[in-house]
Amino acid sequence: MIYLDNAATTKPSKEALKSFNQVSETLFFNTASIHKGGRDAARLLEAARGQILNELGLGTHHLIFTSGATESNNIILRGMIERKLQFGKTVLVSELEHPSVVNVLEHYKDKINLQFIKTTPQGVIDLDDLKEKLNDECILVSVMALNNIIGSIQPIEEIGQILQSYKKVYFHVDATQAVGKVTLDYKNVDALTLSAHKFYGIKGAGALIVNDMNVIDPLLLGGGHEKDKRSGTVNLPAIVGMAKALRISNENLTQKNDRLEQFNNKVRTHFNDYNKMKIQDAQSPYFINLSFVGAKGEIVVNALSELGIYVSTTSACASKSNELNETLLAIGNKNDVIEGSIRISFSQNTTEEEVDALIKGLDTVYKQLGDILHEV
Ligand code: PLP
Repeated sequence: MIYLDNAATTKPSKEALKSFNQVSETLFFNTASIHKGGRDAARLLEAARGQILNELGLGTHHLIFTSGATESNNIILRGMIERKLQFGKTVLVSELEHPSVVNVLEHYKDKINLQFIKTTPQGVIDLDDLKEKLNDECILVSVMALNNIIGSIQPIEEIGQILQSYKKVYFHVDATQAVGKVTLDYKNVDALTLSAHKFYGIKGAGALIVNDMNVIDPLLLGGGHEKDKRSGTVNLPAIVGMAKALRISNENLTQKNDRLEQFNNKVRTHFNDYNKMKIQDAQSPYFINLSFVGAKGEIVVNALSELGIYVSTTSACASKSNELNETLLAIGNKNDVIEGSIRISFSQNTTEEEVDALIKGLDTVYKQLGDILHEV
């Protein structure tokens, strides 16, 4: 099996699993218990917290552990909106956001004025449009750092600098796909969300990082874990695994990304003059979104799956919906391109042999589909 659906989830690294097993066996205690076992577990929790913050260059921010990015996005967006509604109503987001952001904002649609920042055909936010839309009514800007469908990367540092002149505006970054793939400067970000299983950690662990704890209005009330911001026994083994996974995925990142860039270019070059295929631009070497124009993406995914190659249509969260993918629509694609699109997502462990097998598999499916396909 060749697994190229790493934007949906990654295989946990051996090191993350080792940490998970070790902690489960030796420090399985509740971090809230006051006996020595509990105190040792709590110390390990604090060490993991510090490691993750430092790894992201956010040593002076605060972090609470959650079950993943969906939970983190829900907590922070609700918290930020509720806190700022008395000052204004405008919330600015790109048209490329994940359902765990969009659906929370939709939930508030009667209370807020939701506006979309324009993007370029490459899926990058138009900073002039952002500047035009910013005003005294604006309370929140939320942006996905690395796009989960096409792999575009947002100018987080520049957005942060622009927002410095708007003290009332919170800046939230969904960094779920970015963490462990690209180093960005998050220092002007008010809140950042991430999920361990996207960078070779274990499912069920994530984090919400903020520069001010007061902005967190807890969704889960109970025993007061995580400084009263997220009650429930802390998943220490997965959290320690997450800290380990993050350190390892950030190691030698430039070399790893250069290698993936070569693989990515190999695929793009091979299919460059296939006139019934459209390949979207991407800044991240982990992503290739390509369309078999005239076919259905599901058919292509299933045909590749029969060949032992696992990719996805759009994102795992949206793959069961019949709606056209919003991201591909927002960057100006026609319906037939969107319907025929598949997402290939590499991991740091992807090999050249796998990439060659992918090219062969895509060629096989392209031939099988024959006259169903038409020119872009
Ligand atoms: N945000 C982005 C950009 C994602 O890609 C995902 C997962 O696909 C999420 C949020 C939600 O993450 P989780 O499923 O870990 O809650």
